[in-house]
Amino acid sequence: MPAKKAGPADLSAPIFTNEAKARAHLEGLRWPNGAFCPHCGDTENVTSMNGDAHRAGLYQCNSCREQFSVTVGTLFERSHLPLHKWLLAFHLMASSKKGVSAHQLHRMLGITYKTAWFMGHRIRETMKTLHVGRIGGSGKTLEADETFWGQKPRQKGARKPRGGYQHKNVIVSLVERGGDVRSFHVPSATAGAVRHVLDEQADKQSHLMTDDAKHYRKVGREFAKHDRRFGWHVSPRRRSAFAPLCR
Ligand SMILES: [Zn+2]
Repeated sequence: MPAKKAGPADLSAPIFTNEAKARAHLEGLRWPNGAFCPHCGDTENVTSMNGDAHRAGLYQCNSCREQFSVTVGTLFERSHLPLHKWLLAFHLMASSKKGVSAHQLHRMLGITYKTAWFMGHRIRETMKTLHVGRIGGSGKTLEADETFWGQKPRQKGARKPRGGYQHKNVIVSLVERGGDVRSFHVPSATAGAVRHVLDEQADKQSHLMTDDAKHYRKVGREFAKHDRRFGWHVSPRRRSAFAPLCR
């Protein structure tokens, strides 16, 4: 007999019951092209730290020497609850038309009522700010551009920054012509960081428009069409309204 395929509606699916499966699922969603260092934006020099001596799902970045896991920068990062319970709670809340009460979460997840209430609150907050679906699409023009904005927090003892872009925050903005705008804070303007944003957010059936920066070259080939123009930029009026949101 063929194994029953666990659809998203199946509450006994491994991603909702098994911590390693839940982690692998989240990694697949966040990192379709392999692990991404949230500290420096590298994707090439990243090693999985397997073995009993390490926390499950830990990665080492060999470029900046920092360690990270898939939950860094997500609402799961500081949680003591297992990831599979978070995924189930998200699934229940996202798929229910009538909403899910803290009491239901408490019973279905086997967690205290207080924890369930907190979880429900965090999930509702996140769903409100979550960008649902992809930006762009077939027959649509999608503009991508990066802006350097403000100052990165300085490391203790570091010298006061002078000119240049090294100490600035990098914001990647995606603008659907005549439509939505989304802006993302990335660690640095590298091909890996730009790809990460485009993989997660953009519909590759779009006609992509960027400046001639090298980091758009390879990922641009995956779009229906890619126009690169020297010195081209998204209208500052459009992107500036959104930059503060991703601080
Ligand atoms: Zn790194």
